[in-house]
Amino acid sequence: MNSLHDVLIVGGGPAGLATAYLCHKHGLSYLVLESGKGVFQGIANTYPEGKHVYASKPKDAPEPFMVDELRPPDKPVTVESYIQYVQHFVQHENLNVRTEVAFEDIREERDLLSVVTDKGVFRGRKVVLAFGSSIPRELSVYGDARMVAKSMEDATMYVGVRTLVIGGGNTAADVVIAILKAKREVNDTQPVYWAHKSGKFDVNKETAQRLGEEILLGGNIRLLPGAIPRIGEVDEQGVDRLVIRINEFKHADGIDTYNSMSFPMKNVIACIGSQGPMPIFDKVGIQMIACAAGVCKIAKEGDRLVLLTSEFESTRKGVYIIGGAISPSYMKISAGSIAEERHPNLIYTAINDAYHVVEAIRGKLGK
Ligand SMILES: Cc1cc2nc3c(=O)[nH]c(=O)nc-3n(C[C@H](O)[C@H](O)[C@H](O)COP(=O)(O)OP(=O)(O)OC[C@H]3O[C@@H](n4cnc5c(N)ncnc54)[C@H](O)[C@@H]3O)c2cc1C
Repeated sequence: MNSLHDVLIVGGGPAGLATAYLCHKHGLSYLVLESGKGVFQGIANTYPEGKHVYASKPKDAPEPFMVDELRPPDKPVTVESYIQYVQHFVQHENLNVRTEVAFEDIREERDLLSVVTDKGVFRGRKVVLAFGSSIPRELSVYGDARMVAKSMEDATMYVGVRTLVIGGGNTAADVVIAILKAKREVNDTQPVYWAHKSGKFDVNKETAQRLGEEILLGGNIRLLPGAIPRIGEVDEQGVDRLVIRINEFKHADGIDTYNSMSFPMKNVIACIGSQGPMPIFDKVGIQMIACAAGVCKIAKEGDRLVLLTSEFESTRKGVYIIGGAISPSYMKISAGSIAEERHPNLIYTAINDAYHVVEAIRGKLGK
């Protein structure tokens, strides 16, 4: 059984790390659970290479950055150097972070909270959800497809094997191009299969040009339009495999025939986009309110917004939600009324949310 922490923090982005640092400073025990390979994985995954990071602050925001240590520099730096700086900071402060642990659910255990992850259960007095706004979509198949990668770390890992890339957009195309290139450079002739559920791949001109070049240089690509992932299963050798249906023939007698391919899941990358955190809030049982006509200025009519106190506590007692996960707005309960509250998706907001939540938790735990 994992030890008990005052605060369990889900997500190692600006919001989660600011929470961790403040807990560390004030003597609260804590643990960050981050699903990626390293801290700031969300930023590493979503910012284009070389993008400048700005210390943006909303014009009407009264507070300075409340955790100066994580503030991006005034003179913009590239995302790579900001991430490197943060990695050094985490090491230097010896912050308690566990990577490659994906949050799944929260359970109540007498007066404690148990956070269920793919690597076991962690127990805390309070939970801070700081998983950002961009949650990778899951493949929906019969069985389990959790072993399928959602992004590519290193193209050379796929040299020497038949690889399957799923998804019809630019991100999937970029992954296909990188693997084709890595294979070409070492004369590996094993193909890259590129599958998309629709009959048409949808990439921009520049990406299409790079893909075309790679094919002309000898890239071995097999397109699988209209292919649908169906089953996640374990074969007789204990290998997790993904079965993808590549075509279907309907016959007059009502008996259909299919062709399918089965890939070891470790050779599959699914670039099928991301979604907001709403499905997670539903799963965890966090209450949301739908915007009725004329009630919300930022959200659209019918959008569901998470309900939070002014200290960012949700309707599940002891569970706080901060940062990009509640942007661009949420429903704030204060002085007996509920109103939509603007919440810009910025590093500033994420960091300052952390400050307010840690202050609230310190008050509640008397630390
Ligand atoms: C292209 C781009 C450029 C931007 N530029 C700027 C800028 O210049 N300045 C600025 O202020 N803001 C900028 N932003 C916004 C800023 O990056 C976000 O506001 C900020 O990252 C939000 O921080 P966060 O910690 O809430 O979420 P994230 O940074 O998204 O961090 C969440 C973390 O949680 C992890 N996670 C997700 N799901 C799970 C799970 N199930 N279990 C465990 N961990 C999980 C993720 O891997 C991630 O590391 C930009 C955003 C984008 C997309």
